[in-house]
Amino acid sequence: MSHVFPRHCHATQPTVARGDGAYLIDTAGKRYLDGSGGAAVSCLGHSDADVTDAIRAQLDKVAFAHTGFMTSEPAERLADLLIAHAPAGLDRVYFVSGGSEAMEAALKLARQYMIETGQPQRHRVIARRQSYHGNTLGALATGGNLWRREPFAPMMIETSHIAPCYAYRGQQDGESEEAYGLRVADELEAEIQRLGADQVMAFVAEPVVGATSGAVPPVTGYFRRIREICDRHGVLLILDEVMCGMGRTGTLFACEQDGIAPDITAIAKGLGAGYQPVGAMLCTGTIYDAISGGSGFFQHGHTYIGHPVATAAALAVLTKLTDGGMAARAARVGRTLRAALEDRFAQHPHVGDIRGRGMFLGLEIVEDRETKTPFAPDRQVAKHLKARAFEAGLICYPMGGTIDGRQGAHVLLAPPFILSNDQVGELVDKLSTAMDAVLPA
Ligand code: PMP
Repeated sequence: MSHVFPRHCHATQPTVARGDGAYLIDTAGKRYLDGSGGAAVSCLGHSDADVTDAIRAQLDKVAFAHTGFMTSEPAERLADLLIAHAPAGLDRVYFVSGGSEAMEAALKLARQYMIETGQPQRHRVIARRQSYHGNTLGALATGGNLWRREPFAPMMIETSHIAPCYAYRGQQDGESEEAYGLRVADELEAEIQRLGADQVMAFVAEPVVGATSGAVPPVTGYFRRIREICDRHGVLLILDEVMCGMGRTGTLFACEQDGIAPDITAIAKGLGAGYQPVGAMLCTGTIYDAISGGSGFFQHGHTYIGHPVATAAALAVLTKLTDGGMAARAARVGRTLRAALEDRFAQHPHVGDIRGRGMFLGLEIVEDRETKTPFAPDRQVAKHLKARAFEAGLICYPMGGTIDGRQGAHVLLAPPFILSNDQVGELVDKLSTAMDAVLPA
């Protein structure tokens, strides 16, 4: 009997033995093409020697020093490199161990900024339906995934949820994409006015929505309007790039493609590429200066912030993403993968939408393409697709989301950026096998 507390108590899972490029191999020798990088984590695949060498080299020097006493070379160099490539205005980096921690830090920093700047009444957070920001209580409260929130609702901070920017579902007949984007962005202004601007602290969003919706990018102009509204009302813009950041969409930060910069952003997953658990919160100099010139102390912290081995791994990863051209490769291979998916599935009767950016792509699975009707929840389409793909030797990330109160389904693909053309073909073939088994055309 295993003593590990598994994610699903009754699931039987193979045991991973080793990684080989874009593949994971179990103890029985079966190879799985990692079509989702786990959960959009493994951007460099599973056997990157530059990263493992950097980890070993750091371990030979020192594994850990508490940041209450000392900083470390890899943390300093990683922060410099991140800021050199970050959207304009972002100036300081706070390291953590994962995405939820990065979001908690972002929320608490926003709150402390309001206190330090003489606006202590500002505490309300506005976020979006169909979003995921993590599983710790603050991040969970911010997320708009009803199923995840429900059991813990009584324990949560109050958050408002406005509509996501989800053109496939939300754009109305005869409405231009741009008009749609502005219309949903304006829901933010209406909610700020409803709550009273002097109460609102921050708006939180994933630039490209991951787990809850399957790589849904915003329409052009949406985030520019969001930025304007936040500025007009003194509300901080927190972008959650935990899943879509670090080159995943073809640029290091996803928001670069929307022509805006946030006040605070959260990154994780691809930052450590799975080699170490590491995340970060980045903030503007304005926010940092308010705290530095005020109480001088960010009232937050975890034991493992700025962990030397984790930041050494992340430094090696980020060097490959930037100077090594891997983020640009994600844009290129992403175009190939998208073309292959469109070629295979654009006419599929149960594929309603193929979308995303770079190596962050999603297929929305529907019962009826014309009416966009989702499958009934009891069909458990996402669960079956995941199981059949896994059997065929493909790891992908099918999920059910809530669409207008009903369960919908999508397949999220977020493979390593190292994917070859042959592996793009293998991924699409294996996904086809799973689709044929679950949803015969
Ligand atoms: N934000 C987003 C957008 C995510 O996708 C995730 C993880 N799926 C998180 C936050 C939470 O990150 P973690 O699981 O590392 O705590």
